[in-house]
Amino acid sequence: MVKKKADESTEELPAVEEILITEKIKVKDVADLPGVGEKIADKLKESGFLDMMSIAAASPKELSDAAEIGDATAAKIICAARETLDIGYETADKVMERREKVMRITTGSKNLDALLGGGIETGSTTEFHGGFGSSKTQVAHQIAVNVQLPPEKGGLSGTALFIDTEATFRPERIVQMAKAAGLDPKEALQNIIVARAYNSDHQFILAEKAGELIREKNIKLVIVDSVTAQFRTDFVGRGTLAERQQKLNRHLHTLQRLADVYNVAIYMTNQVMSRPDIMFGDPTAPIGGHIMGHFSTYRIYVRRSKGEIRIAKMIDSPNLPEGEAVFLITTDGLKDPEEKDLKKR
Ligand code: ADP
Ligand code: MG
Repeated sequence: MVKKKADESTEELPAVEEILITEKIKVKDVADLPGVGEKIADKLKESGFLDMMSIAAASPKELSDAAEIGDATAAKIICAARETLDIGYETADKVMERREKVMRITTGSKNLDALLGGGIETGSTTEFHGGFGSSKTQVAHQIAVNVQLPPEKGGLSGTALFIDTEATFRPERIVQMAKAAGLDPKEALQNIIVARAYNSDHQFILAEKAGELIREKNIKLVIVDSVTAQFRTDFVGRGTLAERQQKLNRHLHTLQRLADVYNVAIYMTNQVMSRPDIMFGDPTAPIGGHIMGHFSTYRIYVRRSKGEIRIAKMIDSPNLPEGEAVFLITTDGLKDPEEKDLKKR
């Protein structure tokens, strides 16, 4: 891969091809598994199964599809991969130990951080859903900046991977927010790897291949904005609804696996779609339906209020109470409202 020089124009963010090339990293161990020859190993690697953990965590179906082998062979390979790793049952104190490794990224708003239990969490997936202009993409930009802050300022001294599916990533916005956060804007841009996903397959592969990149580039946050839009446009019509859900399901699985294996935070957005066909119940249900609900660790519904004011509501969390947080979207980024701002409501 040709490394971009630091002094190159900030407009020129890494191209998608470049990211894919970086991902072609030799993995010796996978080929050493019983039942895996060179050919199967290559196919596995091409499909993003680069290390033991990713194979151990796969389903036989996923693996057999990837390597074009039978389910029984796939199951044997998965068992062998699991044996090379120390996974199995564990006592709750070990789970607690892992929970203690969880880190948080500030959103810039104390109110919103409190709603999230201290910020966007690593090792988990956080989904923001809401209507157009509710601030889902603004939050994405803000945390891509904030993850770079040192821990004492609410960051993780890390970098971000931004999978942009709607072409709404704006480097100019990063510059504004970085300046306000006291970061060098040029460095802030260099610490965000942007991948524009052109269709749902492309989006799928970008997530599957993110593992090595995460390790190499000190990535602590993976953003998928939006997680569902490409799936919605690529699978139009009812006939392919099941296929869409299945594909989305696998994609969400991949994202969850990244959170588990690499202890990164996953932030994904989901546009709420008006459903005129629904006469009873909530006509603005998020797309992806029950599949999204099942997969995100934290689900937040965000909506516009007057002017800069936005209201976030915790919909679903394994350990946090439901509640609401009021915050502002300003030129400088996310902020807490003051008395005078709330009077406008
Ligand atoms: P969505 O939920 O659809 O992703 P966005 O995150 O794109 O919504 O939010 C868009 C809104 O963010 C705009 O309507 C505007 O209110 C606010 N916004 C965008 N850019 C700026 C800016 N530079 N300064 C202040 N507010 C902004
Ligand atoms: Mg958006």
